Amino acid sequence: MGKSQMKRRDVLMTSLGAAALASIPGKEAFASDLAAVTRTGEETTLTRPELKEFADSLTYALLSPGTPRYDSARKVWNGIWDSRRPALIAQCADSDDVVSAVNFARTHDLLVAVRGGGHSISGMSVCDGGLVIDLSPMRTVLTDLATKTVRVGAGALLSDLDRETQNYGLVVPAGVVSHTGVAGLTLGGGIGRLMRMYGLTIDSLLAVDIVTADGQLRRASKDENQDLFWGVRGGGGNFGVVTAFEYQAHTFGPTYIGGGILYSMEHAKDALDFSFEFSENAPDELGVNAGMTVMEDGTAAAIIGITYVGDESKAERALQPLRKFGRELRDVTRKANYVNEQSGRDAANSHGRLYYIKGRHMNDYDPKMLDVLFERWKPAPGRYTTMRIVRFGGAVSQIDNDATAWPHRHAMWDIEVGGHWTDPDQSEEYVQWGRDYWDALEPYTSRELYLNELMDEEQDQVTESYGNNYKRLVELKNKYDPTNLFRLNANIEPTV
Ligand SMILES: Cc1cc2nc3c(=O)[nH]c(=O)nc-3n(C[C@H](O)[C@H](O)[C@H](O)COP(=O)(O)OP(=O)(O)OC[C@H]3O[C@@H](n4cnc5c(N)ncnc54)[C@H](O)[C@@H]3O)c2cc1C
Repeated sequence: MGKSQMKRRDVLMTSLGAAALASIPGKEAFASDLAAVTRTGEETTLTRPELKEFADSLTYALLSPGTPRYDSARKVWNGIWDSRRPALIAQCADSDDVVSAVNFARTHDLLVAVRGGGHSISGMSVCDGGLVIDLSPMRTVLTDLATKTVRVGAGALLSDLDRETQNYGLVVPAGVVSHTGVAGLTLGGGIGRLMRMYGLTIDSLLAVDIVTADGQLRRASKDENQDLFWGVRGGGGNFGVVTAFEYQAHTFGPTYIGGGILYSMEHAKDALDFSFEFSENAPDELGVNAGMTVMEDGTAAAIIGITYVGDESKAERALQPLRKFGRELRDVTRKANYVNEQSGRDAANSHGRLYYIKGRHMNDYDPKMLDVLFERWKPAPGRYTTMRIVRFGGAVSQIDNDATAWPHRHAMWDIEVGGHWTDPDQSEEYVQWGRDYWDALEPYTSRELYLNELMDEEQDQVTESYGNNYKRLVELKNKYDPTNLFRLNANIEPTV
C-alpha cells in the first residue's frame, strides 16, 4: 500500500471506525477469476491477480457477487432495474480511487456505469456484467463563507447540499426530492423550485474535477479546460467521472412562501388549464408547477404549487391571479422552511418501487391535451400515478441556448407523467400503460426531453434532444472519450 493510500485509509479509519473498515470486503474476496462484460457486450475474464491488484489500489471497497453489501450496492432508485448484476462495484472514496477504476475499466475494455446518487430513472447507473464506479462514499460538502462557494463530493445527495448551505443562509438551486444525487442532476442541467430566480443548477456551477477516459484528473472551469466546462453543463456523464463540483451559492432562506392551492376533481381540469396562463405570466420570483396529487384520505386533487423567492410581503401581489381564479378546495400556501420542504416529497418517491416515468418539454399549450391527460390518469389496482407540469422561463431563459451544453433555454414547460407499483408481475401491463399514455400525449408535446428524465427513448430522440449543441458535443466526445467508454448515459456517440 502506497503512502498516500495509507493516509487516505487513516482518514477513513477515523470517520468510519476501525470495526466498520474491517468489514469492508477487499482482496480476500477474490478466490477465483471473474466473468465480466466488455464495453461492446462481449464476454471477458478478469483474472484473480488482476482483481487483487485493482482491489489493492482502492482505499475503499471492491464488491462482486457474493461479497457483503453487493446486493444493496447494486440497486438503484428505480426497482424496475433490480435484476441488473454488475461484475464489480468499485466504491470510491476519493479521486485517486476513481482514477484507478477508470484505468482498470479502460485497460480491460469493461462496460462501465457511473453512480452518484443512484436516481437514474432509466437505470443507467447500474449495468449487467460490467463495472459500476460508485461515488456514494464521497458525500462531503464544504462551504467557503468568504466567497459563498460550495465544494461538493460526487456522491452527495441534495439533502447533504441543502443542509450544509442552509446552515449559513445559502442555497444552491437544485431539485425537489432530497434523496436525488447532486452529480447526475447537475450534469444533466438541474431544474427545481428556485430556477426561475436563480437559474438551473449548472448556472451556479463554477468548476468540476473530472477524471476523463484517459485516466487524467482535470479541472474544468471558465479558466481551465473551458471546452470541457461547457460540455459538463448539460452533457451528462459523457466526458468522464466528476469527482467534485464547485458552486456559487446564493443568499436564501431559511423560509420562503411555498405550498399551493388544491382543487377537487370537479375543478381539476379548469385548474390545470388556468395554470398555463398563470405560469406564463408569473414574475421571475414566482416558481409555478401544476399536477395531480392524492391526499391523505386517498382522494385525488389537482394542485397549483408555488414558490415565491423574494420579499415575502410582496408574494400576495404575485398570487393575485390565482386568488381571483378561486374554486379552491384548500389553500396550503404558507411560510415554508426550505430544508423541510425539500424532503416533503421524499416518501412519495421512495426507493425500490417500480417506476415508469417520462418527461417532455412543451412549448405550446393546447387545451385539448387535458382531455388526454385526464382520460389516462386513471388509478389502477396497485398502481399510483404521477403528473406534474413545471414552468421554465425566468432566469433559465435569460441565457443563450449555446452558452452551455443544456439546449432547452427556450422551453416553456416540462411535463412528467407516469406511475409506480410494487408487484413485478404487473410490470408488463403498467409499462405498456405508460407507453400508451405517452403515445397519446405526444401530439401535444415537443420531441425534446430533459435528458435527466430519460426512460426508454431511442438514441435518435436523445440526439435530437441535444438540439443544435449536438455537433459541438460530438467534437468534445471525440476529444475526451473517443472509444465511448462512458456510454451508459444520454449518449453522445463519438465519430472517430
Ligand atoms: C425521485 C426523483 C426526483 C427527481 N427530481 C428532479 C428534480 O427536481 N430536478 C431535476 O433536475 N431532476 C430530477 N430528477 C432527475 C435526476 O436529475 C436524474 O435522475 C439524475 O440523473 C439523478 O442523479 P443521480 O446522481 O442521483 O443519479 P445516478 O443514477 O447516480 O446517475 C445518473 C447518471 O448520471 C451520470 N453520473 C452520475 N454521477 C456522475 C459523476 N460523478 N460523473 C459523471 N457522470 C455521473 C451517469 O451517466 C449516470 O448514469 C429526479 C429523479 C428522481 C428519480
